[in-house]
This record gives sequence, structure tokens and C-alpha cells, in this order.
Amino acid sequence: MDFPENEKKSLNFIESIIEEDLTTNKNQGRVHLRFPPEPNGYLHIGHAKSICLNFGLANEYNGLCNLRFDDTNPEKEDVEYVDSIMEDIRWLGFQWDDGPKYASDYFQQLYEWAIQLIKEGKAYIDEQPQELISEQRGVPTRPGINSPYRNRPIEESLDLFTRMKNGEFETGAMILRSKIDMSSPNMHMRDPIMYRILHQTHHRTGDDWCIYPMYDWAHGQSDYIEGITHSVCTLEFEIHRPLYDWALDQIVEGDYRPRQIEFARLNLSYTVMSKRKLLQLVKDNYVNGWDDPRMPTISGFRRRGYTPESIRNFADRIGVAKRDNVIDVSLLEFSVREHLNQVAPRAMAVIDPVKVIITNYPENDVEDLELANNPNDENAGTRKVPFTRDIYIERDDFMEDPPKKFFRLGPDREVRLIGAYIIKCDGFKKNDNGIVEEIYCTYDPDTKSGGSGAKRKIKGKAIHWVSAENAIDAEVRLYDRLFIDENPDGHKEKDFKEFLNPDSLKVLNNCKLEQSLKSVVAGDKIQFQRLGYFCVDKDSTENMLVVNRTVPLRDSWGKTK
Ligand code: ATP
Ligand code: MG
Repeated sequence: MDFPENEKKSLNFIESIIEEDLTTNKNQGRVHLRFPPEPNGYLHIGHAKSICLNFGLANEYNGLCNLRFDDTNPEKEDVEYVDSIMEDIRWLGFQWDDGPKYASDYFQQLYEWAIQLIKEGKAYIDEQPQELISEQRGVPTRPGINSPYRNRPIEESLDLFTRMKNGEFETGAMILRSKIDMSSPNMHMRDPIMYRILHQTHHRTGDDWCIYPMYDWAHGQSDYIEGITHSVCTLEFEIHRPLYDWALDQIVEGDYRPRQIEFARLNLSYTVMSKRKLLQLVKDNYVNGWDDPRMPTISGFRRRGYTPESIRNFADRIGVAKRDNVIDVSLLEFSVREHLNQVAPRAMAVIDPVKVIITNYPENDVEDLELANNPNDENAGTRKVPFTRDIYIERDDFMEDPPKKFFRLGPDREVRLIGAYIIKCDGFKKNDNGIVEEIYCTYDPDTKSGGSGAKRKIKGKAIHWVSAENAIDAEVRLYDRLFIDENPDGHKEKDFKEFLNPDSLKVLNNCKLEQSLKSVVAGDKIQFQRLGYFCVDKDSTENMLVVNRTVPLRDSWGKTK
């Protein structure tokens, strides 16, 4: 797949709005955004898009961006998620203004504003069962039915709301509704719920509250409290905008006012992105935790070896759309490869080893070869790679009876070893099961890479190898896409889990890495020549390095590897 290089882009529609606002000095020329995650799961690549957009716009316009936890639903929220969210945002390279903010910090103020609305006759307590309330809402094409409580005395609602707050009623016994318009074609305007009773301990406010505001009675107000100017969210909130504005109308004083702007959420092929579904994969052990390298979470990508730069570049490339669309996941992989190509040093690793004995090479001799760490970057320097009589090569770089076009090793054939010599195969030995165990070769001492011998050309590319005596043992985890279907979410009859890729993880535990990798630590990124980009995993121990494949060198999805 070819992707065009970034050209100087024209303004996206959000930038246009901001520039227009700056021209008219709206909100005294301030630009203040926010990223408002609900702490009910780990962040995924869709959130990364939103983070890059919000923090990116703040940087671009010398503005500010808050991190605000939208923690109004204590049933599903947890501090573990709060912590992971902060870690992920920092890792992506962004810093929020001031300390982290929480909608729960505003519970008292939101409560007081609700009281104000009741007093103004704009909100009432409804004691009907939830099903009846939903029924009365009706359908968009027909007006709904007023609740019998709609016009109850203000004093009654005030009294009940206070008692609701004081914990006198069971969960679900009644709700506070705003009194807007039961015949509005926008269902969200048909007396939406503002507060519900939930006898549930909150991860920050403990048991201080047993009534919790709904999203629509918390979000715009929180924006207003924080002085947010541009409240950027995804398209599914477009239909909420009249309510966002209505709620602001009730509280705004002066000429500052936040504005909600919607953009199309990121959808990726071969990926599910709803936190609810990702949570299922974690809870039911389809993956090994939120940071499983197959997960589309930021923590999963980090562990897999993706870099913040590659994710930011990806977010930049896909831009900001007004219409829903699906981005090809290979564009993300392209961005990852592109960045790793610049920063990952090269090394050799053999992941499916077979031994080669170079019979004319002196036993016990070790020759330190000098190999470039990154042929694309002279400053990356060189490293020493020991060459010895016994080496490992990749099992599939040898064929017993190779076809003509196989330009690697086979009986009586020659191949060049990367950074070393040309070797020729004189024979091989099989074990009782017919598996090739040892390959016997002779090397041509006049063909050393880099020297005058390098001039001798043979057909085919050089193959990678590792000295047997000096190899480091490693477990290599090869990851593939988690789903085999382009749109695992898009099947009405079938659950998304039916499209899990049974081969998304392949563990190879007899891998041999070159000696220079002795001191790598978790998170280090390396290009194993001819194999792909890899990243050292946190599961590594003193005796066994564990390495994740981040991406193969080329986009090989759907092709035989
Ligand atoms: P999910 O649908 O995955 O459960 P969410 O929207 O419920 O996600 P929030 O924590 O509420 O998750 O999202 C925080 C912010 O991230 C919101 O502003 C939301 O619009 C944005 N966001 C969530 N998913 C995406 C996405 N796929 N693309 C872009 N922005 C997203
Ligand atoms: Mg949400």
C-alpha cells in the first residue's frame, strides 16, 4: 500500500471555527479544550485520535487543554482506569493544563443548579416507573405524553429532590427531569433525565452522594465551570447539542460560552473499539489483559512496540472528518513501520533456528565483524557481531531440494551471510523424524563483506544468522490481527467474538538473538533484519528474553508469510 507524504494541509473544519472565533475575539480570544474520558476502561486508539486532536489544537493555538474525568457513573468506574488514562496521555506526549479535573468535583455546583431549575419551574420529580417514562417519550414522529407529575407544585419537587439527595429513597424510586418539550422531534429534548438515584460508592466522592447527574446535565456545565471554549466530541453527540445548549442557557452569565463541535469518530478495519467489548475480551480471557499487545488500546500498542510518534503521525494523517468512515488499519501499521524504520537499530535474530557448521572455519575462532546499526542513519554507529564455526540460520532459508528460483541455501548452492561471508552447502544431516538437524557448509574467506571480497556477487539476498556459541536465548511472540474480519462489529446475526483470529498469537520459544542484545530492557525496539520490528517485553527474565513482534517489515496481511 502506498501512502502519500504529508503535504501542507488546509485547515480542517475545527481549525476554521477556532480561527473564525479568534478573528471575532469570541470568549476574549481564549482557546481552551478538554479531553473528557469516562474512567470505565483503558483508552483505545479512538481515544488517541481524540487526544491528539484536542491537545494538538491547544498547542497549535497557544491554548490550553484540560483532562477531565467524566465520572458520573460510579457503577462502572474505577481508579485503576483513572491512573491508566493519565499514563497513556503522558506517554502519547501530551500534558494537560493544571491538575486532572473530575466532573465529580462539580457535584455540589450541579446540584445547586438543579435546585435553581426546579425553583424556576424547569425541572420536576417524576415518580413513575422507568418503563412508563420511556413509553410516554414516544417516537420522534409523534409527540410524547406529559407525565402526570410534570406540573406538580415546585415545593413538592424541591422537597423530594432534597430527600432524594439525603438518601431517603431506593435506587430507581424517582428521577429529576428537566421540563423542556415533550413534543420535540428531538427525543433528547423530551424532558430528559437530569438526576437518578444510585446507592453506589463513588471512587472519589465515596458515599457523599446517592444521586448522580446524567451526562447531559454534567458535561456542558463542567465545560462552563472550566472555561472551555471549544468542546470537541464525536458525532453521536450531535443530536445532544440542542440539550447541551439548553442546559447552558439555564446557567450562562456574561458573554463567555462554550460551544460543542462534533467530528467523526475513528473506526479502524479489523478492530473493535468499544470499551464495553474490549472489557469483555479482557474479562473472559480472550486476551491477556488490557495491555495485551493484540489489543487496540494505547497500553496494548505501547507494549507491542508502537511509538507515540507513530500514533500521532497516524492521527495527523487521517485528519478530521465530519462523516463517519472506516480507516484501513494498515495505515496505522504503515505509520508504525515508518517511524521504527528511522529509530530502531538493526540486529540479527533467528526465530526458527537450524544449525550450520562451517567445516573449514577454525574451531574456537571468533571473528568480530563490524555491522552498521542502521544503514539509514550513519550516526547510529556500528556494533560487533561475533562470527564462529557454528551458526544458526532460519530453517526456511534452507531447502533440501530447492526449486530454481530459491536463491538461498540448498545442496551445492551458495548464499551470502549478512555482514560476513559467502557459504556453500556441502551436505546436511537429518534426525530420525526426517527433520534437518545440521547443515554443513564451507565458507569462502575471500568474500568478507565490506572488504574487497564483497565484490563477488551471487544471486539472491544475504540471509541473517547468529553465532551459535554466543547466542542469547529468547522467546519471540508473533502477533497478528486480533480479528479475521474487516468489520467484526458489523454482523447482525453474529457476535464479534466469532471473528477472533485463532492465530493472533504464535509463541516461538527457541529463538536465538545476537550477542549485542544482551543489555536490552523492556520497551527497547529493534529491527530484526528480514523479520520485522520487535520490542522487548516486560515478561523478560534474566534467563529468557521475551520479544514481541510489533509489525512485519512489509504489509503482508492476507498473503502467505
Ligand atoms: P467507547 O465508545 O469506546 O466506549 P466512549 O466514547 O464511551 O468510548 P469516553 O471515555 O466517553 O469513551 O470518551 C472520551 C472521549 O474520547 C470522548 O470525547 C469521545 O468522543 C472520544 N472518543 C471515544 N471513542 C472515539 C473514537 N473512536 N474516535 C474518536 N474519538 C473517540
Ligand atoms: Mg462515553
